Amino acid sequence: MVHVPRRTATHPRIGVLGAGFAGSLTALKLAKLGHDVMLIDKASYPMAGASLHNEGKLHLGYVYAATSDDRTHQLVAEGSRSFLPIVEELTGISQDRVRRSDPFVYIVPVDSQRPADQIADHFMAVDRLVSDQQDDHCPSERLDRGDWPACYADDTQAVFQTCEVAVDTHQLSAIIGAAVLAHERIEFVGDTDIVGAATVDRSRLRSPGAFSVRVTAAGSRPNAEERRSHGNGGEESLSFDSVVNALWQGRVRLDADLGLTDDTPWLWRWKAAIDIGGTIVDGLPSTTAVLGPYGDVVNYDGARTYVSWYPACSVGLTDEVGFEPLSDRIDRIDRDLMLKKSFAGIAGLIPQVGRMDGLERRARIGGGYIMAVGNTDIDDPKSGLHDRADIGVNATDGWISIETGKYCTAPMFALDAASKVNAHLEGT
Ligand SMILES: Cc1cc2nc3c(=O)[nH]c(=O)nc-3n(C[C@H](O)[C@H](O)[C@H](O)COP(=O)(O)OP(=O)(O)OC[C@H]3O[C@@H](n4cnc5c(N)ncnc54)[C@H](O)[C@@H]3O)c2cc1C
Repeated sequence: MVHVPRRTATHPRIGVLGAGFAGSLTALKLAKLGHDVMLIDKASYPMAGASLHNEGKLHLGYVYAATSDDRTHQLVAEGSRSFLPIVEELTGISQDRVRRSDPFVYIVPVDSQRPADQIADHFMAVDRLVSDQQDDHCPSERLDRGDWPACYADDTQAVFQTCEVAVDTHQLSAIIGAAVLAHERIEFVGDTDIVGAATVDRSRLRSPGAFSVRVTAAGSRPNAEERRSHGNGGEESLSFDSVVNALWQGRVRLDADLGLTDDTPWLWRWKAAIDIGGTIVDGLPSTTAVLGPYGDVVNYDGARTYVSWYPACSVGLTDEVGFEPLSDRIDRIDRDLMLKKSFAGIAGLIPQVGRMDGLERRARIGGGYIMAVGNTDIDDPKSGLHDRADIGVNATDGWISIETGKYCTAPMFALDAASKVNAHLEGT
């Protein structure tokens, strides 16, 4: 049974589904605008999904060296620029208190999908674009071999110093989660699975809302066989005048209940994020390897380190539309093997990592879904993973669907979603 508070005439007219970065910030903005909001998540606390277990890079566009045009760089750079000011506006926490990484070094390994000179051209194009948006942008610099940090493998093709940084997603999740739970206009309903939605014919049902959202206690979602034999027992319907669908991996599946589908081919992946307390190699800069199925190491000011090696950490790939499209494969992860392969992979680029003892013992594995439009994985230069321009907020008569795309674009899209809800409610 779901423990959803009984609503009265003053019930929240707005349901925000999914308390990740996108949903939580949308709820905070709506609350700031004076609305009562019900924020629903299957987890017990806000910010427990991909927004917790990711690298937190505030992309400027350097990593998108395979995109056909500059729309992706423009979008992620715009999101990154507004990221911390929006977080400060909605939480009241000064952006100076958010822990960041040191500026990223990009390396081009010997077997990169693009030669170093092409990557250098791409970096210059990104710098031109970001400089147009930001007067104080510090352009990337291709380092002379003698100036490379000593840690990289001898066969590395090129090394670039950039000014791009990541934020500590663990710290930020705690900040956002606390702001959501403390806000008197936000009613957080955790441990609750969203299992379906429909539009409501108000003239016939005299329903208080235009949309009904079906929920059940987390983990008790009936499968097709159970539905046939026991019906939908345990499910409850909630009605709202406006709904924000911020379910991330389940977003497309829920939109489909309202007929909001098109022919876009989506691919879902689940990617592990390895978290290690403190640093792993003294003096190792935060590093991203381009272009291909490599990985990253991020040092958040000595507090903790994020490691990801794509070939080991990418678990499954599916085009099946569902609420948890890869749950069976996530349950079967061999964690020891994943850690072993990840550190071995990183050691191919940063040999000292291979000489460090006890890393596997210190490591914890989290992870989250990554979605992209397309039919192929990252090793295909034409993969949708290299292109994130088709993301953002869609509004259809009070049903607002957020395709967050990236962590760095979540705050920008949350403001957009909140303003679309506000406009809809003012118009009804
Ligand atoms: C390993 C990894 C590294 C990444 N690195 C970066 C990076 O460096 N920079 C960057 O910009 N982006 C990065 N991303 C992408 C980024 O994490 C996501 O784009 C972003 O966090 C999505 O935010 P969200 O709020 O939409 O989703 P989430 O944070 O996942 O929030 C969705 C919420 O919905 C809930 N939910 C889902 N389905 C249901 C359901 N049926 N019922 C109830 N609740 C449900 C979940 O519990 C979750 O809390 C990375 C992703 C991963 C996995």
